[in-house]
Amino acid sequence: MKKCLDHPVFRVISDIVTRRDVSAYVIGGFVRDCILGRDHSIQDIDILIVGKGIEIAREVASSLIPKPKVSIFKRFGTAMFRYGDMEIDFVGARKESYSPDSRKPAVEEGTLEDDQRRRDFTVNAMAISLKRESYGAFIDPFNGLKDLQDRILRTPLDPDVTFSDDPLRMMRAIRFATELDFQLSTEVEEGIRKNRDRISIVSMERITTELNKIMMADTPSRGFLLMDKTGLLAIILPEVYTLKGVETREGKSHKDVFLHTLQVLDNISRKSDNLWLRWAALLHDIAKPATKKFMPDHGWTFHGHEFLGSRMVPRIFRNLKLPLHERTNYVSKLVALHLRPIALVTEQITDSALRRLIFDAGDDLEDLMTLCEADITSRNPGKVRKHLNNFKFVRLKLKEIEDKDAIRNFQPPVSGEEIMKIFGIPPSKTVGIIKEAIKDAILDGKIHNSREEALRLMYKLGEEIGLKPADQK
Ligand code: ATP
Ligand code: MG
Repeated sequence: MKKCLDHPVFRVISDIVTRRDVSAYVIGGFVRDCILGRDHSIQDIDILIVGKGIEIAREVASSLIPKPKVSIFKRFGTAMFRYGDMEIDFVGARKESYSPDSRKPAVEEGTLEDDQRRRDFTVNAMAISLKRESYGAFIDPFNGLKDLQDRILRTPLDPDVTFSDDPLRMMRAIRFATELDFQLSTEVEEGIRKNRDRISIVSMERITTELNKIMMADTPSRGFLLMDKTGLLAIILPEVYTLKGVETREGKSHKDVFLHTLQVLDNISRKSDNLWLRWAALLHDIAKPATKKFMPDHGWTFHGHEFLGSRMVPRIFRNLKLPLHERTNYVSKLVALHLRPIALVTEQITDSALRRLIFDAGDDLEDLMTLCEADITSRNPGKVRKHLNNFKFVRLKLKEIEDKDAIRNFQPPVSGEEIMKIFGIPPSKTVGIIKEAIKDAILDGKIHNSREEALRLMYKLGEEIGLKPADQK
């Protein structure tokens, strides 16, 4: 296991803990990912000290050049610093006991094995010794290495205890299974199903952190299928859970919106690492259950699901304690617009419709097109190709119009203040009507997007409704 210790910082730690005669280990995710050969932009390294971690952290930091600033968390007996592209945490070995109504354990000092036992999964409990006489020794009392090779998540203790003690571990299980492409052991899956309701004692922020990591995995659908299978989905994201199922009437069925949504999410994840675009994919059809109707002539319809869905986004984000208003607006907007490019294909591609889409989508137009392309989930490859070609054509047309008309982030060439000043009128509905009429004329191609033509139209509109320019009164 020495290959995981080739960074010089491990030698520095080794010298110090050897001199002080304390045992120290690298443990957890770093060991797991080193064996798996996973790359990270920032290495997050956990150093376990049997004894007090804070002093060791200070001494290690003092021996490094340049000397990093150590952050100390006295209450937890931990310390950390950043060094180059590494974030190094020092923790004292702990033994924990939990009471049923809280995630906060009573903590006392423990041995290496006590500490390994309290870890979430066997593959996260492997340790490598740093002290000189045993440098590089691999300590794996729960056979994490075998589970790593078998790509399976097991808990060091009975999963019922592990999950009941800290229910966040249920989300972590599904997140690791998704990120690493591992299976849950049967016992782990059972343990989650049994303890699923205890997720309610975990703060929503921490759940959402795991959820976002699931969203950012290569194939996020894996996590959603596992959340569904174990019963967590209905608790955490009831709106997504409700997408499940197929109804048939008069021999006509609609597709399972949950499975379709997961396909769209996986499709978009192959194209983009934008977390919020992925959220838009997850929520694009979120109002289908609420708008579903069976029309004897047409079959199943979901009329207006894009608008209702876009209005559901803020509440869903609020419940998840997802931050950032501006992200909510972005996701709402993409949900609201997700049918527009399709309408362009099926109806008629007029310049006016293209300009309006550019105007409404603004800088998010490319993301919207990416979402629409990901939304094609037909099993018929011929159909998929046809739809993709249609969108290619729409993209081409959009570019043509954009190059010509500069509609994106369109600013009205005549402002409301100007209209009021020129006609000498107070703020009123009339001002809005004139402004809107100028915008429509530009988007419909009746006038060019120029100040001169806009002013000319403004005077003409004013005259039609009996307004006189103030300087001629
Ligand atoms: P990643 O950094 O990719 O999220 P990680 O395994 O390093 O994965 P961290 O959250 O950084 O995860 O935690 C470091 C280690 O601490 C884990 O490997 C695990 O041994 C332990 N750990 C973290 N959270 C828990 C928990 N809730 N219960 C038990 N052990 C945990
Ligand atoms: Mg980590």
